[in-house]
Amino acid sequence: MSSTQAEELQGKSANLEKRAADILTRLRSLREQDAPTHGGRVLSYVYDSGLAALDELAADAARLVQPVNGLDPTVFPSTAVMERELVAFAREFLHGASGTAAGRSADTDTDAGEVVVGNVTSGGTESCVLAVKAARDFRGLPPGEGSLVLPTTAHAAFHKAAHLLGLELILVPVDPTSGRVGAHDIATAVRKDTVLIVVSAPNYPFAALDPIAEVAKVARAQSIPLHVDACIGGLALPWWGDLPPWDFRVPGVTSMSVDFHKYGYSPKGVSVLLHRGRDLHRKQYFGLTDWPGYPVVNPTLLGSKSVAALAGAWAISQVLGQSGYAELVSRAQRATRALIDTVQSIDGLRVVGTPVGPLFAVATDDSVPLERRVDPHRWVSAVGARGFVLQGQPASTQSDGTTLPRTTHLTVTPVTESVLGELTSALVLGADDVRGSAAASAPPALAELAGAFERGDVTVADVLALPSDAVAAALTSAGLDPRGSSDSPLDMAAVLAAVESLPREVTKRLLVEFLAGLVEP
Ligand SMILES: *Cc1c(COP(=O)(O)O)cnc(C)c1O
Repeated sequence: MSSTQAEELQGKSANLEKRAADILTRLRSLREQDAPTHGGRVLSYVYDSGLAALDELAADAARLVQPVNGLDPTVFPSTAVMERELVAFAREFLHGASGTAAGRSADTDTDAGEVVVGNVTSGGTESCVLAVKAARDFRGLPPGEGSLVLPTTAHAAFHKAAHLLGLELILVPVDPTSGRVGAHDIATAVRKDTVLIVVSAPNYPFAALDPIAEVAKVARAQSIPLHVDACIGGLALPWWGDLPPWDFRVPGVTSMSVDFHKYGYSPKGVSVLLHRGRDLHRKQYFGLTDWPGYPVVNPTLLGSKSVAALAGAWAISQVLGQSGYAELVSRAQRATRALIDTVQSIDGLRVVGTPVGPLFAVATDDSVPLERRVDPHRWVSAVGARGFVLQGQPASTQSDGTTLPRTTHLTVTPVTESVLGELTSALVLGADDVRGSAAASAPPALAELAGAFERGDVTVADVLALPSDAVAAALTSAGLDPRGSSDSPLDMAAVLAAVESLPREVTKRLLVEFLAGLVEP
């Protein structure tokens, strides 16, 4: 290399360093626009243990595996070790049997002794989709056949699974008061072609714990696999106290999902999917040897994949162990109880059902006169103005004609305890701010559109046939231009009211346009 070439390279690398610093400065300032991920101010999406050392540990672990490709554990055996140990950890607290092939139960009437095995996936959605795929392939129905039975409260990920896998979705209404599904209603909904029944421990919208043992009896009687979605509760309920059985101790539960990127406090991108029995588990895999490239054997939807989040989850689980999680859960539990007490004492609001786990939903208390009622969507806005971000959930109608109310969702984490005083006053004063105000309504342009649907002037097909420019124009006229001024904050109360008042196919189309617009270059 000539000396000028060397100088040039050196210059380039100095230049690179300078640019890298500028780029990171810009990212830091972009991050300032984000909702705070730590400190308990956002009561959904983020799970703060309150222990900075856990975040540091996960970051260090992620850095160590940054260049690794999780696609091939024969080339990168570290990934198999971490995955195996994380699966073993989840299996232990979910009470799955660790038996070897010889350890199968002698009692053929129960599946309790059958070994529980599984994989790490990229998150709850992937775990749910793969649980459905495994069950479908286990059943061996031809493509395009099969149905999936879910309570209306089961996570949207199962709707996605049915959509992707071409299964018919059979939605079972839940009791609007408790938010729980009835085992009898599941029994009447299942069909000959049902490949899987799903229940939740607990469900996301209302934190209701479905009657898992009762549904498992139904599932066993009909020889249908049963998935317990413990994505959000799986790392909390084991240490929550006395609960009806909800995990692999229940015969008939054939698979479970638990998200480490929720109450496992790891970076986003880690969930564990467990199956009872190796034969069901093997159906989760996709294998292909007849193409001209390398033999493909994937347990998950991704091919090449990062193991950064897995390394983080693995490291955190190793350092905390079950006792560490138990301690963090007890903090979240204290905070949850205190918040539930607070909400119950707020005139015009009520807690929905009997929440199980560190989350709950709040609805209007319809038993008090109108002028004392608090609208949940308006409450979200008022509490937001006081510095805490709550999540609105729209009302919906079930197939039996009953209505699930509009609610506010709160996910409580261990760190919530440290802001309890401030949060409590925000909840109370926020309710005072909006008590007696009319329920939030859709932006005028969308309310007008809803009226047009009601009169029959417009049909869903009309809207779905519109090109995206026209849909974007409709959003803009409703004040929801994704590319408009970002200084005016999104009025979520109005958006949710619009979701409630328009046909769901239409709101879906509108929101796709909105979100797509946000990232369009
Ligand atoms: C979060 C959640 C999911 C989906 O998980 P993601 O990690 O967001 O994909 C599924 N089921 C339940 C009950 C959940 O709370």
